[in-house]
Parts: sequence; structure tokens; C-alpha cells
Amino acid sequence: MTDKNKSEWVSFEDINKTIDQNEDPLRLNDIPLEDTEPDPPKSQPTPPKIPPKPIAKIDVSSHEEKKVEKKPNIKNGLESEEKRKVFQNGKVVTSILPTNLSCAWIIPPTYDSAKVPKIFSDPQIRLPSDVYTKVMQAITDDLRFKSYSVLFSRILPLWILLSIGVLLLILFCSPDGGFIVMVFTFIWMIMLFIGIFFCIIIRKYMVIALRHCVKDANRILLPYNLIAGVQDRGQLSCHKVVILFIYFETSECVKDVERLIKIKNSHSLPQPIEMSETAVNFEAKELVFKYIQLYVKAYVKRRLLFPTRPSEGVSEYMPKHCTKSHCLCQFIESEHFNRPARLWYERLV
Ligand SMILES: [Zn+2]
Repeated sequence: MTDKNKSEWVSFEDINKTIDQNEDPLRLNDIPLEDTEPDPPKSQPTPPKIPPKPIAKIDVSSHEEKKVEKKPNIKNGLESEEKRKVFQNGKVVTSILPTNLSCAWIIPPTYDSAKVPKIFSDPQIRLPSDVYTKVMQAITDDLRFKSYSVLFSRILPLWILLSIGVLLLILFCSPDGGFIVMVFTFIWMIMLFIGIFFCIIIRKYMVIALRHCVKDANRILLPYNLIAGVQDRGQLSCHKVVILFIYFETSECVKDVERLIKIKNSHSLPQPIEMSETAVNFEAKELVFKYIQLYVKAYVKRRLLFPTRPSEGVSEYMPKHCTKSHCLCQFIESEHFNRPARLWYERLV
């Protein structure tokens, strides 16, 4: 075969290839799109990712960079604010314990109201020493507090011990027994249960009296963003009655309680109650003062904490003015405004 024939043969094959591709479009569709395009020259940059990069950079630089610049500022601001604000709502500032140590079973507790804890000189609190002394005296020198600290835990055991003593005395004095002793035993049992009933009522009134005592002390503490409460940590010892000072900015809670009062007044029957803003504010503050002792007692016993796990249940409330537990207004809402109706015997206790 000559050179001329060779060149003719090759050209014939090329012509057939072009004809087949044009005649069969299905084959074209089966071919990947990259192959349909003319092969790029080797000198051209192959990576297709180059064009999007500058576009992405432009978008970030124009819009995101400002945010990136702001983020550290926000963080720094928050950190500095957190550093500055050591105390947050619900932070227990200090616990004041009795100073007398001997004869805890008999002698009532005494407190040194002149010795001011150093933490009250913190710039965030700045509680003057005379105000602290006044608050401590308002609580500890009050007869309601003294009767609570001495009698609350022991009035019921004392009555039961006294009753058992009387019963044993009568039984020892009449070893022969008989009808009279039997009648006396029945009367003794009735007297025991009546006494227990009255002890429970007395205990209830002691709690109410203490609440009023603490309420008066908290009026003094209001401008210093502090609340005070009493916690009895002992069973029979008098010297485990602790006075707690907790940091709490009550202004926001008072506003929410005002809102609750207005809602309650608007739904009042037979007609809505009209109150001035001053009267609503006064009533809201009174409610806050009234429930502080109960709130402190429940708070330190960790009854008001929000659930942190699904197994702990679901809370009806979201964190509002206290991050980890119910705040004062939420406590008042549940205990005062949404309190379920109690049975007659529940009201006695
Ligand atoms: Zn609140």
C-alpha cells in the first residue's frame, strides 16, 4: 500500500466517526458532559474550584468580617460585665450562725449583730454596718423569731414526752389497775391527740409570725438588692437557726407581680377591681415581702431548681429573673395567684 492510499483510508475513518456521532443522538446523551466539551488545552488551569474562591472571599469580607470583629467585643463586654457583676439573683451572700455554742438544747441562740461580714463591703452591695445591725436586730431581737427558734422544732416532742410521763406516773401510782385506770387511759389518749392537733396549729402560727418578722427586716434591705430569710437546719438544737442573706434585685419581680395583680383585678367578680398604679405597686411590694421567707426556705432546700435532665420532669416556668431556679415573681405566681384550692384540714397545717 502506497502512502497516498494510507492517507485516504485514515480520512475515510474520520468521516465515518463524525457521521455516526451525528446520526445517533442517544450516544451523545450517554456521554458525560465533560467529554462533549472540547478537550481543554493542557496549558489551561484544570482545577474548577478557583473561580468560587474569590466570590466566597468577597461575601465574607463584606458582611461577615464586621461580625467577626464584633464577636470578641461582645465576649469581652460580657466577660467584663460578669467580672464586674459577681452577684446574681439567687446568690447566697452569707449565712449568719449563732455565736453561743454551749447548751444548744436549752439556751436560745444569740447573734452578733455588730460584727458585719466583710462581703457586705463588696462594691456591688455596699451594705452599711448600721443597716446590717438594724436588720439583724429586727430579726433576732423579735419575740416571734425567738419563739420560733426555741419552740418550733420541739413543741410537739415536748407535748408527747409530757403526756407519756403523766401516763406512766398514773400507772405506777395505781398498780392494781381497774376501771378508773382504763377510763383515765382513754381520756389520756383523747388529750394526747387534741394536744398534737393544737401543737400543729401553734407551729403554723409560729411560721406566720416569723414570716411577718422577716418581712419587716426585708423592708430595710430593699434598696441594697438583698433579701434575708431564716432557715432552721437543726432538729432539736436551738443553735442551728441560720439567717441567710441572698442577693436579689426585686425590682423586675415587683413589676411582674404588678402585672399579675392587674390581671387578677380585671377578672374579678362580680365586677373588675379598679386600683391606682400606686396602690398596685404597694400591694405588689407587700406580696414580695410576704413571700420572701417562704421563698428563701424553699430556695435553700433546692425545691425551686429548674430540671436539668429529662428524668427530673418538666417545669411549668422558664427562667426569668433567676437563671437556675424559680424567681420571686414565679414563686408568688404559683403560691399566691395559681394556688390550688386546699381542703379544710390542709388549711390547718
Ligand atoms: Zn421574677
